[in-house]
Amino acid sequence: QAKRAGERVAVYTRRRDSVEVGRRTRDGERVTTTLDRPFAVSFQPIVDLATGEVIAAEALARWRDGARRPDDPQAMLEAVDRGSLLPEMRAAVLDLALLSAANWRDAGFDIPVAVNIAPHSLLDARFPELVLSRIACHELSPDRLILELTEALATTQLEVVGGVLRTLRTAGVRLALDDFGDGAASLSMLSQLPVHQIKIAPEFVHRVSSSDEAKAVVRSSVELGRSLNVAIMAEGIETERQRRDLWELGCAAGQGQLFGRPMPASRLLGALHRGCAGRPGALAEPLHNE
Ligand code: C2E
Ligand code: MG
Ligand code: MG
Ligand code: MG
Repeated sequence: QAKRAGERVAVYTRRRDSVEVGRRTRDGERVTTTLDRPFAVSFQPIVDLATGEVIAAEALARWRDGARRPDDPQAMLEAVDRGSLLPEMRAAVLDLALLSAANWRDAGFDIPVAVNIAPHSLLDARFPELVLSRIACHELSPDRLILELTEALATTQLEVVGGVLRTLRTAGVRLALDDFGDGAASLSMLSQLPVHQIKIAPEFVHRVSSSDEAKAVVRSSVELGRSLNVAIMAEGIETERQRRDLWELGCAAGQGQLFGRPMPASRLLGALHRGCAGRPGALAEPLHNE
């Protein structure tokens, strides 16, 4: 079916072994990418821990096997690492995430979308150009994109990576350090690669209500965040008790099953429309029951 030129569209042709992702340019040209294997992108709400309001969403990609069941993304990422799929896949995930953010914005919910970035993407000097051109395609403001980085970034490569990240930062893109506390490189990374947000790893979040050590990690992360002017968020929040403890320790935002598992972009929009995001746990309930 004909689509208007300039319209933001994702064109998908889902076959057994491939998926076609694309959009139509202003000139009416269809730009598509065919990926070897189907994958899906889900979105997990990131909420204000005081109000439950959805303030952002994280894009999470995974393969779908023949039975269309989501697979472990780690397996997908390893497959991607071994093959040559990465550039296309990276562009497709980014495009789907930005497309979704543009759709939410057009529906009146101007929330940023967070996209996970594999360490070696940041060794590609053309990466900022790719990201900024995709943002422009979807007519989004650069601050509607959050790039999530992991400390798997080798310290020896910080010079190259630093250049790429500085270009993106200067253009207005937001940066988050994912899985904070999970490894030894977090602190040295922070001092060399200034980010806007830090996401505390689920490992500490799960134990925050039962372990003084986990509490101490959260408390000192919050203090670090205050002194560096970096927002602190928590990942993997599963219980109301964890939400309250995190909030009392000064952690203002987070994500987890308590608020909603990763879901299709359309369902996140539906939830935003229904206004059910204001109640912790509301997004985790089956929506057809509401
Ligand atoms: P991450 O970026 O730290 O993503 C958070 C993970 O926590 C997701 O796992 C999410 O489904 C899971 N999660 C959400 N709520 C809860 C909860 O309440 N409890 C627990 N235990 N877990 C929760 P997922 O989707 O399996 O993704 C795993 C990792 O794979 C991600 O960790 C990210 O590092 C990577 N990944 C996913 N999509 C992409 C992608 O498009 N590109 C790249 N480079 N990496 C990706
Ligand atoms: Mg992440
Ligand atoms: Mg994480
Ligand atoms: Mg992780």
